[in-house]
Amino acid sequence: MRFISSTARLTALTCMAGYGFSQPAYDLLLEGGHVIDPKNDISAVRDVAIKDGRIAAVAAHLDPAAALKVVNLAGLYVTPGLVDIHVHVFTGTGERGSYAGDLSVYPDGFTFRAGVTTVADAGCAGWRNFEDFKDRIIDRSKTRVLAFLNIVGNGMRGGKFEDDLADMEAAPAAEMALRHKGLIVGFKTAHYNGPEWTPVEHAVEAGTIAKIPVMVDFGSDRRERPIAELLTKKLRPGDIYTHCYSGLRHELDESGNLNPGMWEGRKRGVIFDVGHGGGSFAWRVAVPALKQGFLPDSISTDLHVGSMNAGMKDMLNVMDKFLAMGVSVDDVIRRSTWNPAREIQHEELGNLSAGAPADVAVLSLETGRFGFTDMYGARLQATQKLVCEVTIRNGKVVYDLNGTTRPDWDKLPKNYTQTGDPRWDGITPQRRPATVPPARNTGK
Ligand SMILES: [Zn+2]
Repeated sequence: MRFISSTARLTALTCMAGYGFSQPAYDLLLEGGHVIDPKNDISAVRDVAIKDGRIAAVAAHLDPAAALKVVNLAGLYVTPGLVDIHVHVFTGTGERGSYAGDLSVYPDGFTFRAGVTTVADAGCAGWRNFEDFKDRIIDRSKTRVLAFLNIVGNGMRGGKFEDDLADMEAAPAAEMALRHKGLIVGFKTAHYNGPEWTPVEHAVEAGTIAKIPVMVDFGSDRRERPIAELLTKKLRPGDIYTHCYSGLRHELDESGNLNPGMWEGRKRGVIFDVGHGGGSFAWRVAVPALKQGFLPDSISTDLHVGSMNAGMKDMLNVMDKFLAMGVSVDDVIRRSTWNPAREIQHEELGNLSAGAPADVAVLSLETGRFGFTDMYGARLQATQKLVCEVTIRNGKVVYDLNGTTRPDWDKLPKNYTQTGDPRWDGITPQRRPATVPPARNTGK
């Protein structure tokens, strides 16, 4: 059953009566939270039902008796699982000082605790090492890991590789992307120091063959290849300019006005992504840009070993920064779910439509005195902070900060061992019940 219409639900309930409630209509019912689902124009208190790893229904009231497990989320936000399209997760190779190695992080260690259920690696691997990345990380992670393939065949392994114009071939990159359709969601060009347009041009060529977008980290600022030309001539509509508030490539002019090329690029359909990172987000760029009305299309972290211990903490921290600049919770959620899902051509993600994969984030909005720092260590003080309470991936609870989905220990049987059910619980190990009775003293 992919999703349940009201008629189907009645049938399911009728069946339940006959089968002693062995087949509840829903595995999990999230009750009474404030649902923000920008794709479906929902920002209101709603119940969300999940069955077999998919969203079964979203409505003002769903019958709790039809669910195996009911969780009350009054006072919390319920959003699609967050989609972070700029991370670095090709770790485990042993290569020092490399994003195809020690600078990357294992996704599951950092995603669920921030409400993130889908990430896109931003070019750690190229066509030469993508299948190693897939084997080491993509196939082994609970997080949904997608990838922008570096136009550099060797991937993001330092200047010796990333400045090598001979290893930026469009054909083998496109071929690899077509072999892993849906998994490779775009091409990345990054960190290029030279004056040539070759990396951008070849990435766009590969993107045109494979019909997927290009994400650009525009590297060194060079007079020979100005940002306005990139945004108005070189990139296609749907291509993504990341690090858009770094200020490192004349995103603002000297009087603090947004580069007209940014506006013109946006008008053409070029996408602007945050990609905060360790060195790509400055208050002195972001605040004036937002004041001039230039919001990002997508919010992303540029998560890696360096950034996550510096100004960038995690996805929610980057979202908090936009709340702090006056963007509404609804608009921040849109830019962290439905917008990035569309940018990477995965429209089944980033929303809570019936039938969609049941990836969900449950967030609280705390008030207090908080500080948020940028790439230069400059602080902006604010009074709001999002906290991830519960994360659900494919219908299973995979993170639960305050035990919102769990029973109190002193209400359980004396020798309790298992407290969940594999149909909704992705956290506690599913132990087999003890089949051997304890040895009895027979007196022999
Ligand atoms: Zn990056």
